[in-house]
Amino acid sequence: MAKVLVTGGAGYIGSHTVKALGRAGHEVAVLDDLSEGHRAAIRSVPIHEGNVGDRAFVDAVLAAERPDAVVHFAAHCYVGESVTAPGKYWRNNAVATLSLLEALIGANAPVFLFSSTCAVYGEPKRGLLREDLPRLPVNPYGRTKAAVEWMLEDFHRAHGLRYASLRYFNAAGADPEGDLGEDHDPETHLVPLVIREALRGEGSLRVFGTDYPTPDGTCVRDYVHVTDLADAHVRAVGRLLSGGEPVRVNLGTGRGHSVLEVIRAVSERAGRPVPYAVVERRPGDPARLVARPGRARTALGWRPRHSGLPELVDTAWRWHEAHPEGYGE
Ligand code: UDP
Repeated sequence: MAKVLVTGGAGYIGSHTVKALGRAGHEVAVLDDLSEGHRAAIRSVPIHEGNVGDRAFVDAVLAAERPDAVVHFAAHCYVGESVTAPGKYWRNNAVATLSLLEALIGANAPVFLFSSTCAVYGEPKRGLLREDLPRLPVNPYGRTKAAVEWMLEDFHRAHGLRYASLRYFNAAGADPEGDLGEDHDPETHLVPLVIREALRGEGSLRVFGTDYPTPDGTCVRDYVHVTDLADAHVRAVGRLLSGGEPVRVNLGTGRGHSVLEVIRAVSERAGRPVPYAVVERRPGDPARLVARPGRARTALGWRPRHSGLPELVDTAWRWHEAHPEGYGE
């Protein structure tokens, strides 16, 4: 059992990971400024409310908690917004993380898990994405995440920082027990938007482009269940605490689904077709992002168990049906 501090633990992937770490027997505390997270999502887990870029605050939290591991989710995550407001992303995602890392080096160097992304790969031409491909991000969001990956390599070399960089593909789904789910404001992600359309019938679902070089012309993504992502974090904490080397892994399934396939899966769950309008491409969307998943299995013993599209859609559906206003905060 370890003491684990989770930044951004009140967010979507963070809250599912907090639950999984607790289940695995770890003692968990959250550091979150609740700018995008939800207090209800962490239930009774202790929270230090403040910003990860506030060095004095972070120093005080580290002194109080003395964590063995820090899992760092706190970040902004909208690709589109990062293009129009890059400063916000560089400050929060990169500069604040630098401040956190410097604080950790001074505080008995707990092990460090970083929330990275398949956006570090940019716009790959073909095939499954392997971890050793060059990082060629095409938007500020991806660049801030790639910058932190380089930071981690330098801190490892200079200070012996032990870290794992977990590159998420498309997180979706909700806690199978129904406690936790996805509640972003604004919501921009495909799965919750298709479900919202099915449940509310507002006629607002749009498909961004049907002229991509993919089998049905819509973009292909590797959707991975948030519970599977949470499990990977528990495994990565275990690896690092037992002395494992730093690692950079894809968290994806190796199987891609198009936008129309997702709409079809939700239509099946709904028992009726979900209507949509085809509109222009969304700027910055690569045609296809699918992980080569092998390294996570070798390094973490991880494989996705809940990421089949019907199960993923069903858990998300149940959350949205039971929580029409999300956490209602
Ligand atoms: N998408 C869409 N309509 C929407 C939201 C998303 O057609 O209202 C498409 C988007 O262009 C992308 C895929 O669905 O090809 C997944 O988008 P999402 O924003 O969920 O995740 P991303 O891959 O951008 O991280």
